[in-house]
Amino acid sequence: MKTVFACLALLGCAILSGSARDPVTRARTPVHIPDLPGYVTLKCDFHTHTVFSDGLVWPTVRAEEAWREGLDALAITDHLEYLPHKADLGTNHNRAHDLARTNANDLDLLLVRGSEITRKMPPGHLNAIFLTNSTLLAVSNWQDSVQAAVGQGAFVFWNHPGWEAQITNNRVLWYPEHTALLEQGQLHGIEVVNSRDYYPEAHRWAIEHKLALFANSDIHNPLNLDYHVHNGDHRPMTLVFARKRTPESLREALFARRTAAYSGSRLVGDEAFLHPLFTQSIQIKNARFPLKGRQRVFVQILNNSDIPYELERAGELDTVTFPKELTLAPGKYVLLEVKGKGTKTKGKKSLALPYKVANLLIAPETPLAITLDLEVTFTP
Ligand code: ZN
Repeated sequence: MKTVFACLALLGCAILSGSARDPVTRARTPVHIPDLPGYVTLKCDFHTHTVFSDGLVWPTVRAEEAWREGLDALAITDHLEYLPHKADLGTNHNRAHDLARTNANDLDLLLVRGSEITRKMPPGHLNAIFLTNSTLLAVSNWQDSVQAAVGQGAFVFWNHPGWEAQITNNRVLWYPEHTALLEQGQLHGIEVVNSRDYYPEAHRWAIEHKLALFANSDIHNPLNLDYHVHNGDHRPMTLVFARKRTPESLREALFARRTAAYSGSRLVGDEAFLHPLFTQSIQIKNARFPLKGRQRVFVQILNNSDIPYELERAGELDTVTFPKELTLAPGKYVLLEVKGKGTKTKGKKSLALPYKVANLLIAPETPLAITLDLEVTFTP
């Protein structure tokens, strides 16, 4: 009998610790987005909820989901003011983070303490991350709450500025309250993407007011209910270009505004980051070749990232023709057909094929301009 109990106890422990789980299902899928020269690209979600506010999952599950999806960093940002499960769980604004901590450490996931200051517009909803104590933010006046966050060295950003429940006459508005926050050094970033929505107005403000760009999930459900991550879908992510993969470097990079917003196949950010990100993603296999008369050559371009780059021709060249549109599919070699125009050009020439990357936005409606660089030796 004693042996049976011991076995049952062991089995119970094994299940609780996760060691009895199927090792195949408990696996991480890497996100392929290249590092930039001097920086590692961290994939992050800084806006998530658990049962400790109006979410529907336990905090350890949030860490597990983030690790499996290939994220580097996560913030659980439960509402301070809206706690529908309070009768079951009580009120402890630090509890969700504390519960997720062990699992995050085991999985080498950077877990950042955060809270959502949840007010009507203005100022709307603000996330404070890199907190040391969320409880200090639970005060009636929202300015005091922001002050308590900033007093802890927190990074503060404006959530979903274009959320339909908080916009006026279909317009996304910037209020004097936001100007005041900005002037007091209490607003550091803005979500240009929240869940599946992109807000061009917020993108414009980010550029104008020098705010870090964010794309966050704001997930309340179990991840798989909202994002079909096993079928190529992914949650929106904030890409952070950090010197190292540490919490300190992550924080430094956010305050230095080295971020981009990645959602669906769209990437939103400064040209200074998107341009090297694109060039680090692709490799032209046969960039040098001879070309005679009106000959056709197929250039092979490999895209090492998960982002399908949608190229649109942005100009013409005198010497060769090349495709109007071309999608560089993730993980594949794609053929670019280059055809001589049969001109009298002779000898070795550097050609820069001008394209725009339609799904990489450096400003609203402004795609990133790139060139595909070839070295062609012409014989007429
Ligand atoms: Zn939220």
